[in-house]
Formats: sequence, C-alpha cells, structure tokens
Amino acid sequence: MFSRIIVAVNNFVMRFRKHRFPAGSVLLIAPRCIHRSDCKLNVEEDINDCVLCGRCNVKELVELSRKSGLRCVISRGGREAAAFAKDPSIKGIIAVACVKELAMGILAVFPKPVIAVSNCLPNGACKDTCVNMDELRRAVSEMISG
Ligand code: SF4
Repeated sequence: MFSRIIVAVNNFVMRFRKHRFPAGSVLLIAPRCIHRSDCKLNVEEDINDCVLCGRCNVKELVELSRKSGLRCVISRGGREAAAFAKDPSIKGIIAVACVKELAMGILAVFPKPVIAVSNCLPNGACKDTCVNMDELRRAVSEMISG
C-alpha cells in the first residue's frame, strides 16, 4: 500500500514538473523477469542480443530504444538498477518493475527524476512478466525532449 502511494505521488509530481531530457541521457530500466524464462539469449548483458522473435516484451524494448534513441538495460535486481541509474551521464530514468521495487528505486536514486511503470504479472511474481507498451511509450514521450 505504502509502495503504491510512493509510485503514484512520484508519477504525479513527474507529470506536473515535466522534466525533459535528450534521449541519450535517459535510461529505461526493465527487470530481468520481463525476459522470457525459456529464452537462452543473454539479453541481461546486452539487450541488443535479442533476435526480436516477439515472445516477450524485450523485442518492443529494443525497438523502442532504437526508435527513440534512449538507452535501455535489463537489471538483475534493485541494487544493480540503482547503480545504473546513479551514472552521472543519466539525467532521467524510466523504470519498469513491480510496485515494491519501483518505490524502493525511486527512493534510492532521489532526487533523480524517475517515471515509474509497473509491470504485469500474468504468471505470478518474478516470472515471465510483461509491460503495457502504450503506457511505456507515453512515459518515453513525456521524458524525452525534442
Ligand atoms: S523477444 Fe524473443 S529473442 Fe528477444 S528476449 Fe524475448 S524471447 Fe528472447
């Protein structure tokens, strides 16, 4: 409940303040559970290793990052996500995760701006999750300038 409030208030403030940055300084961070569990490709190391078969949302993440120019990584956990986000060259973050991880991440990287998008859990927590791509594209359009 507390996590949901943090995420909702954060996103409300983000939309109110309208932070916008060049695409190259925006990082999209997605959780490893979005990567289909039976796919053997090492997209956690480099998302561009995805061959775009379309069986999980990694395909759309690759296409979105190529089209918009933002950087995109798959994180193995909250600590790694925070480390990615704290890179000084990163000015804004779009984070995909479960609500609890999003809330912890927002607090961990504060005051860096984060738009938080919660993932869907059709197979339960932490396995073969997915994200609403319309919501994610909206977040990207709200954070990238130009
Ligand atoms: S879209 Fe296909 S190739 Fe890419 S990570 Fe998902 S399952 Fe693997």
